[in-house]
Amino acid sequence: MNMAIAIDGPAGAGKSTIAKIVGKNLGLMYINTGSMYRAVTYIALENNISYKDTDRLMKLLNNAEMYFDGDNLILNKKDITNQLTMPIISKNVSNYAAIPMVREKLVKMQQDIAKNYDVIMDGRDIGTVVLKDSQHKFYLTASAETRAMRRCKELTEKKIDVNFEDVLEDIKKRDFIDSTRELNPLTKADDAIEIDSSYLGIDEVVELICNHVKNKKK
Ligand code: C5P
Repeated sequence: MNMAIAIDGPAGAGKSTIAKIVGKNLGLMYINTGSMYRAVTYIALENNISYKDTDRLMKLLNNAEMYFDGDNLILNKKDITNQLTMPIISKNVSNYAAIPMVREKLVKMQQDIAKNYDVIMDGRDIGTVVLKDSQHKFYLTASAETRAMRRCKELTEKKIDVNFEDVLEDIKKRDFIDSTRELNPLTKADDAIEIDSSYLGIDEVVELICNHVKNKKK
């Protein structure tokens, strides 16, 4: 098995920021699996397809081409990375991500990448499903308020106008859908190390993870 690090946790826990840096430090390909579910949501909304219309959605997805170019997500030859963090996508993504056929397709794509490359992946079902045989699993959390504050800061920096209460409500709603859906819900893998990042800086979390990985490899 290639080197594979799994990072799971709820929205806004800092997974992508941390995973990107750890990936760079350890020479691993970083895969943001949330952006794949966001891309599905993007193409569905663009084509006016409800999450209830699974047949049309799957037809569209099966004819679509999705891949990463570095950290950028390319869908049907278009770089849609910047559109994926728009509030409209965040609001709808959990409903599309709960569709079993969508999950099956994306999990297979993620596992195929991990077969060919040393990876660090972040998401909701990485330690429990996608990379369940990984030796290195982490579960990153923080209070909903801390996570909402971080998301607001991120969006404001991207010049997207947001309101704290709306972001907090969206995060809580997504947490609920993600952790109660039938297939592959968000849950900590039994063998994952839990890190509460509420009072830790980015560097501290990165160091914790890198040290765990290095010590385990010894
Ligand atoms: O990580 P991010 O917040 O961008 O993920 C967006 C959404 O995609 C999550 O709220 C969840 O509904 C879905 N997701 C998932 N499984 C993953 C990654 C993301 O269901 N592995």
